[in-house]
Amino acid sequence: MGYGSPFEHYQIEIMNDDKSLLPKLWHCLAIADTAAEVGANLEQGLNSEEVAKRQEQFGLNRLESKGGKHPIIRFLEQFNQPLLYILIIAGGIKFLLEGWQSANGWVIWAVVLINAIVSFIQETKAENAIAALSSSIETEATVYRNGEKNKVPSSEIVPGDIVFIASGDKVPADLRLVETKNLQVNESALTGESTAVEKHPDTVEANASLGDRKSMGYAGSFVTAGQGRGIVIATGKNTETGRISQLMEKQNNLITPLTRKFDKFSRQLLYIILGVAALTLAVGLGYGQSLNDVFEATIALAVSAIPEGLPAVVTVALAIGVSRMANRHAIIRKLPAVETLGSATVICSDKTGTLTENQMTVQQIYAGGENYQVSGSGYTPEGNISLADEEINLAYHPVLEECLRGGMLCNDSHLIQEENTWKVVGDPTEGALIVSARKVGFTLAALEAEMPRQDVIPFESEYQYMATLHESSDRQTLVIYVKGSVEAIVSRCDEMLDSDGRIIPVDAAEIHKQAETMAASGLRVLAIARKITQQTTLDHEDIAQGLEFLGLQGMIDPPREEAIRAVAACKNAGIRVKMITGDHIITASAIASQMRLKRSGRVIAFTGEDLSQMDQQEFINAAEDGVVFARVAPEQKFRLVEALQSRGDIVAMTGDGVNDAPALKQADIGVAMGQTGTEVAKEASDMVLTDDNFASIEAAVEEGRTVYRNLIKAIAFILPVNGGESMTIVISVLLDRLLPILSLQVLWLNMINSIAMTVPLAFEPKSKQVMEQPPLSPNRPLLNKPLLLRILLISVFNWVLIFGMFEWVRMTTEEEAIARTMAIQALVFGRVFYLISLSQIGETLSSKLLGKDTEIAQAPVIWIGIAVTMVLQVIFSQVGFMNTLFSTAPLDLQQWLTCFLVGLPMIIVAAIANRIDPPNQLAQN
Ligand code: ADP
Ligand code: MG
Repeated sequence: MGYGSPFEHYQIEIMNDDKSLLPKLWHCLAIADTAAEVGANLEQGLNSEEVAKRQEQFGLNRLESKGGKHPIIRFLEQFNQPLLYILIIAGGIKFLLEGWQSANGWVIWAVVLINAIVSFIQETKAENAIAALSSSIETEATVYRNGEKNKVPSSEIVPGDIVFIASGDKVPADLRLVETKNLQVNESALTGESTAVEKHPDTVEANASLGDRKSMGYAGSFVTAGQGRGIVIATGKNTETGRISQLMEKQNNLITPLTRKFDKFSRQLLYIILGVAALTLAVGLGYGQSLNDVFEATIALAVSAIPEGLPAVVTVALAIGVSRMANRHAIIRKLPAVETLGSATVICSDKTGTLTENQMTVQQIYAGGENYQVSGSGYTPEGNISLADEEINLAYHPVLEECLRGGMLCNDSHLIQEENTWKVVGDPTEGALIVSARKVGFTLAALEAEMPRQDVIPFESEYQYMATLHESSDRQTLVIYVKGSVEAIVSRCDEMLDSDGRIIPVDAAEIHKQAETMAASGLRVLAIARKITQQTTLDHEDIAQGLEFLGLQGMIDPPREEAIRAVAACKNAGIRVKMITGDHIITASAIASQMRLKRSGRVIAFTGEDLSQMDQQEFINAAEDGVVFARVAPEQKFRLVEALQSRGDIVAMTGDGVNDAPALKQADIGVAMGQTGTEVAKEASDMVLTDDNFASIEAAVEEGRTVYRNLIKAIAFILPVNGGESMTIVISVLLDRLLPILSLQVLWLNMINSIAMTVPLAFEPKSKQVMEQPPLSPNRPLLNKPLLLRILLISVFNWVLIFGMFEWVRMTTEEEAIARTMAIQALVFGRVFYLISLSQIGETLSSKLLGKDTEIAQAPVIWIGIAVTMVLQVIFSQVGFMNTLFSTAPLDLQQWLTCFLVGLPMIIVAAIANRIDPPNQLAQN
């Protein structure tokens, strides 16, 4: 290997197609050499110009997503439905009987083809839409560029960038690590090894295998702990992951519990159809009819029983649900979640930022034995600190001063001012501590210059603290500042400062009492402590004991207004909401009670500690009864999900951290936070909230229920036509009468007419009642009793329409074609009324008629569907070509009117059906 030009080696790697020649020895290359190879600047990072140039040269850091199966295969799979086999065979029989010139045969096969094309297009569109949505959740990475630390979309990373990774991140590209701190990475996607591996910057042997290359971070793996910095040595398809697969796994398919039930239903229907068709054949032959006629009847029957239009409608409805949820800030990553949401019985939600605003403001400080009040609101650093209503002079309050200083220094966040509003970059809890210190005149820049930071232990929920090591202002000693939960800090303190700053033994009981008083009013309390030392590095053991307690800062974090409303909506809808938080039990309970998150009037709360001492049965009971779970560890979240599921609950669980991934996977609906969530959490989730807001989960449930209801409406709409047609044919055959409807006409009704009329149902908006009913049982059958009754009732009326109209017209005019055409048109008019009755127009109209004061629903899509249907039906009977193809005949105005009038009584029949099976009632068992 030559190290001549910085790029020489690298370009060989990129350009050489012969993989065997690719150097893979970055792991044994010294850091300085690596930097030189890829032209990286370890201190400053690349400059913008260089980044632009490299983006041009290397392209985006992204793997093309795999298109799944080949389109032709996916197209062919459309034919792989039992019901379509029947059609294909039916067409074949026509050809057998009538030869290749059989128009019937061709039309049937054409229908099969059109059906496959429509489903294929629908499916592709829906899959692409879902894929686009989930990839819209862009992965971000932290890079050093132009001497600054910045967040950029991972796709914009180039070789030579200096990337910073921390626990929860996805490694954005292949990195040669230059600095690590307790860095642990899970590389299972690459190596299959499921436990995390420790990483360090030291070179490793040249022949180390991928899993042993400790000095490297590989794209697509996850940081499970610690942090690190590395030089990007390969991006996109040149990464190890890219080499292995070239393509990203595409995980979207359109199978959901409902479609699975539907498939099962189709298979059962198939047997019924085959049975009845055989019967028809036998009966027809028994009457001595010609083979041709008998087969026409058999085929018409088979075709009539198949709801050809339904699969297309199901896909459309699911796709609409997904996009409606996205509009309401819930991005579906896995399609079944759309339906599962409608069945959710419990939502376990984070408190901070999801139920609350995450707008923290310090209001009270306890330091040096005194209770201070802080004025001002939000992150605007205006306000002051007072003691007994009198503004203080900091010079006389040394302990308060030190407490504020510690809060500001032991901090990874900062404030920015944007158009007159102040915002926190980083953690709101830390932002609040910066603001309180600024209120007495401290500034971050001055303080950090005075006491430069030497080392840090970043905050992690598990430890509940963060620590930083600073040089003291006189550079004689060093100081460790630690902040965190009261329990975590006080247990590490042996001393505290009295009001004059003198060291006295710590009074833990008093501190806890003070903290509890603050927490009782819903304040989040952070304790701050310090340790004077000589050491120059910082580790967990260094602060295990011997700290000096400095004070407490209590901050408010008000509940979100919309979350309070959403909690109430959930209660109405029979969904229990539980708060899961790392915060103190008293703070959490106070917030829960402000949000009316109660169970039989009480806030029942447990701590992680309580839970850890329970046996399995007690744990399950606690999971059921509790509404607040405070200071819980991530693995307890997992156990909570399991416990609730063991009681038959369908659980939605939110999460944001690395360690939340198992709970998110276990939950029926894992919900990750889009803004504050780690990549690990997002990857494990079924749904991502773009606004981190509890109200969006409730919105998604609402949409999930609506999708389900609309699908049931579509089924309730389509099946009675199949029912009516099949009855007509069976009865006519049994009575040895002419067929009132021919197989091609049946196909027209079931495909063209059904799709035009049913797709609008998929667009139905949510009904008011949707959140006033208990959750859907996940084990409900596809067709419950009321729904079956409804289908039967409407089917019978449809049979009356077809059979009655045909027989009556044939007897009066002796014109078969006209009789059949009129029978079909009457059926379609009836169908129009039935559609209206199922839609929300029908619902609002009938309550208006009953004297209720409701607005009639606006349902433009339904009207469009009806208009399209009418145009198609006119073409169907009035156009010569269609007459030949479908054996129809043109009708005159009077005949049209007759059809309309005959269809009219459907209004009454539909009203009865709505009584039996209210259309906006969620299907119950
Ligand atoms: P939550 O579920 O409320 O987000 P966390 O797990 O983030 O809870 O925090 C748990 C506890 O850790 C908090 O009650 C607080 O005392 C402490 N804490 C939270 N954020 C920080 C931080 N940035 N630095 C130090 N301690 C923190
Ligand atoms: Mg938090």
